[in-house]
Amino acid sequence: MKTTAPLLLLIEDDPQFRLLLRTTLESQDYRVLTAATGRDGLIEARNQRPNLLILDLGLPDIDGQDLIRRLRISSELPIIVLSARDQESDITQALDNGADDYLTKPFSTAELMSRIKALLRRVAKLPGGAQETFQVGELKIELTKRRVFVGEREVHLTPIEFRLLSVLVRNAGFVVTHRQLLEKVWGASYVEHSHYLRIYMGQLRHKIESDPARPRYLLTEAGVGYRLCEEEIQ
Ligand code: CA
Repeated sequence: MKTTAPLLLLIEDDPQFRLLLRTTLESQDYRVLTAATGRDGLIEARNQRPNLLILDLGLPDIDGQDLIRRLRISSELPIIVLSARDQESDITQALDNGADDYLTKPFSTAELMSRIKALLRRVAKLPGGAQETFQVGELKIELTKRRVFVGEREVHLTPIEFRLLSVLVRNAGFVVTHRQLLEKVWGASYVEHSHYLRIYMGQLRHKIESDPARPRYLLTEAGVGYRLCEEEIQ
């Protein structure tokens, strides 16, 4: 095992699933710490300084949401939450509390690996700030020049549309919740106005997507938020 490999902390109370995940992660050369309770997990997070946390939201002792809030007071530790299906509101709340991404059980190993890699990559990029130009497929966005292209064609966006798109660009590959988008684009007093988002997202898709009803770039995460894809899906 390489000592330079990223150190992952896994907080999961189900012993079989914990062992399975641990084995899977170690087979990918990650170093893995595990905790079966929120309390032990918090101690490990503080003492061992892991590079990333994988957190099951349903824990026996501490509420997963509470654990995220407590960690976020003093830590930027990247967090991927694991949640059972049909718990959309839990996922949204976890992201609003400061989690970075989520996976719904059951998920594939490949899915987990790609989320971990994406999150570690984003953290590594942070000191340099957001990239000036973002490109995926035919879509190209120049952030400081505020210009957007689809192939050779320049697309003209309104200021609100551009702000909405740039928040998604800065979080490319990651879900941004409805609340986070409303707060960042319109302001804190608009967090309940989700119809704004539907309208503006519709306009953006109309301008950017070749088939707005089947978007390739601006993806809907049902009940949670939106994700700008980082790599084009075929
Ligand atoms: Ca659990």
